Amino acid sequence: MTVEMFDSLDPRDDAVLASYPVAGEQEVQGAVERGRTAARWWAEQGFDGRKRWLLEFKRAIAADAQSLARVISRETGKPVDDALLEVMLAVEHLDWAAKNAEKTLRRRKVAAGLVSSNQAASVGYRPFGVVGVIGPWNYPLYTPMGSISYALAAGNAIVFKPSELTPGVGVWLAEKWESMAPMQPVLQVVTGLGATGAALCRSGVDKIAFTGSTATAKKVMATCAETLTPMVAECGGKDAMLVAEDADLDAAADFAVFGGFGNAGQTCVGVERIYVCAPVYEEFLAKLVTRAGKLTPGESYGPMTLGSQTAVVRGHIAAALKDGATAVLGGLDSVDERYISPVILTGVPEDSAAMREETFGPVLIVNQVPDLAEAVELANASKYGLAGSVFTKSKARGRAVAAQLETGGVTVNSVLGFAGVAALPLGGVGDSGFGRIHGADGLREFSAASARTVQKFHAPLNLLTMARKRRDMTIAAALLKFRHAR
Ligand code: NDP
Repeated sequence: MTVEMFDSLDPRDDAVLASYPVAGEQEVQGAVERGRTAARWWAEQGFDGRKRWLLEFKRAIAADAQSLARVISRETGKPVDDALLEVMLAVEHLDWAAKNAEKTLRRRKVAAGLVSSNQAASVGYRPFGVVGVIGPWNYPLYTPMGSISYALAAGNAIVFKPSELTPGVGVWLAEKWESMAPMQPVLQVVTGLGATGAALCRSGVDKIAFTGSTATAKKVMATCAETLTPMVAECGGKDAMLVAEDADLDAAADFAVFGGFGNAGQTCVGVERIYVCAPVYEEFLAKLVTRAGKLTPGESYGPMTLGSQTAVVRGHIAAALKDGATAVLGGLDSVDERYISPVILTGVPEDSAAMREETFGPVLIVNQVPDLAEAVELANASKYGLAGSVFTKSKARGRAVAAQLETGGVTVNSVLGFAGVAALPLGGVGDSGFGRIHGADGLREFSAASARTVQKFHAPLNLLTMARKRRDMTIAAALLKFRHAR
């Protein structure tokens, strides 16, 4: 039987890096079955055993970080230093998940309440079994590891389907695990195209952790619905940065350049829209344009990893210009076949496609607003709700605006700050998805809560019997009024 293969390409020049098998239904099923056996062994290791394995895994990744960074760089086109940064972040998360799973998930007592005072009540968390992870290509290590680390620490085995653009990163990870624990396939990879991901959704895994576009999340959800397989969805965003009149404009401009153009704008929690208060609008814009003008595609950031995204970026710039926007840096000519030079657009109408849809390229929209209140309103008008940022020297104002932004995360006086804090959850609302990875919430996302009561003595009022006494009901009815009807 011939095995269907697909190529992984270097987006800088389309050179073939390696070929990988397209896993079909049978191969995916086989991996899930092996994972199920491994999951039993993994669960038996307990929190302490898993912590030791995961910290060893962490050390193995960190010791070989340069080789992993090279694979990431080759498959995505991003500079090796950026890839190394991704490895650092992923390792931090793995470390935190390993060290905090027991504290977060071990069985703990809860107050049983007056009516159930004869019960000892506790809540614990069980692993689901096998979790299927479907990952994107923009941060092909950090993003899926945000699910993998936490699901593993919670006691699950993993079958990981990486993006077809970055299969090598997934294979590297699974091989690293295998070199450590060859008989226990707790972390496996299945390579392939979208159909392989769909097969994973249908394979009987106990949960799917999906990171990718909103459009694909809808397809994944429909497939998961066939088998009532639960899922967590980490999707796209249209994150806004808000700049107040009292902001440190140099810092805001620096962060805007990093958040908007880093990784060629291919960052789910990157900056796509900037709302600047009128008194400092011109000054901020000048600082931003000067900094962005110094960036060199191919050095400061890589090419568009997904070739077809270039057309989306071009389309958004064209739509904005047609809708009356002004290009103050670059424009349609900035869009090459592979590389896109920084583009800054101003005066983009709120109903323009460039303003409503995720652009996922090195394009920043900078619009003027009369005050922060309007900036908050416009930021919240998006169907996405992944993250947002606000720049102000007033701590009280920063906190107030942060509370008003309807997103999964907010940074005050920086961008992307939460991504590096392992204790914080990551996820969005609306079209940005649902559920959380990272932090204690991420550990619980990959666990089934299990409630328990142990009867300590007979209830003074025995209501859970078919031979209920009139006296007990009379007291219970009086108690109901006394406790809750006042
Ligand atoms: P896609 O939605 O195109 O793909 C995501 C994954 O889903 C890939 O592995 C893909 O496989 C797979 N897939 C495609 N079709 C199906 C299907 N029918 N059933 C199951 N799986 C399928 O996303 P991208 O890879 O283009 O990633 C970019 C997107 O990810 C952006 O929107 C970005 O904002 C978002 N993202 C969100 C993050 C977050 O934390 N919220 C973090 C990082 C990215 P294949 O590649 O083989 O087609």
